[in-house]
Amino acid sequence: MPTLSDYPKIAAGKVRELYAIDDDHLLLVASDRISAYDFVLDTPIPDKGRILTAMSVFWFELLGDLVPNHLVAYDDERIPADVRGKALIVRRLSMLPVEAVARGYLAGSGTTDYQRTGAVCGVALPSGLVEGSRLPEPIFTPATKAALGEHDENVDFAAVEAEIGSELAHRVRELTLAIYGRAADHALAKGVILADTKLEFGLLDGEIVLGDEVLTPDSSRYWPTETYAPGKAQPSFDKQYVRDWMTSPASGWVRASELPPPPLPETVVDSTRARYVQAYEQVTGRKFADWIG
Ligand code: ATP
Ligand code: MG
Repeated sequence: MPTLSDYPKIAAGKVRELYAIDDDHLLLVASDRISAYDFVLDTPIPDKGRILTAMSVFWFELLGDLVPNHLVAYDDERIPADVRGKALIVRRLSMLPVEAVARGYLAGSGTTDYQRTGAVCGVALPSGLVEGSRLPEPIFTPATKAALGEHDENVDFAAVEAEIGSELAHRVRELTLAIYGRAADHALAKGVILADTKLEFGLLDGEIVLGDEVLTPDSSRYWPTETYAPGKAQPSFDKQYVRDWMTSPASGWVRASELPPPPLPETVVDSTRARYVQAYEQVTGRKFADWIG
């Protein structure tokens, strides 16, 4: 059995780490870390890495006929025992320098852009939309990949064409919208709105391949349909307990202070873990108890 230290670490993001297995394969490890309000919190959420990994696997399978993906194995002897269930062996891709975002609803930086310009990433939208509004149709709203600690920057389609070429840019847009459409339909049938999602594609032998994590709550906004009401920030399926506690007087944390938040109380950790399990089970129809690790 290998251990993680057998593999060179090639990258570490806020919540995930990437190791090299060999020239053609990487190990993508999802930690239990959680971020909220731009902070990676000191308190991990037990099983979050396994739940999000299981969710990615579900979506890779469901989307398999739309686009090839990088997943090679999730249960394999090359995966160290201590990360079993929260690690994927993937094909090493040459990643395109684009965050491929699809939005079906207005939220976050989409709302900010819209309020300033009436458009998101150069896509003009009708007037009168508010935070949380459903868009007339899903749109492609790419962003540049920012360095660690910096924010991605929304760009228009022409910027993507300039970066990766027109043909590839069109393919990325088409695939992103097709994937979003399939996933949003599936989620809605399960009682969850998929407001938006961020995908990453890469190239392998000239072929476009879906990489990274897919359609996890870390890369996507999931909203429960029961509480959906445009005109305000929507409750997040997974992080709402964390956000509510952080901004409540009980936390003693003042968001505007820009100081790191205190550790989460056990009740918030437990209810948040339960939300992740619920999101997984509701969206996939699978039992988390059946997942490996
Ligand atoms: P963060 O998401 O925390 O802002 P990040 O995007 O740099 O930071 P992660 O998302 O944790 O970090 O790390 C995943 C990294 O691995 C990304 O840079 C992503 O582009 C890259 N990646 C994902 N899949 C592959 C792949 N199959 N081959 C090569 N690189 C990949
Ligand atoms: Mg990332």
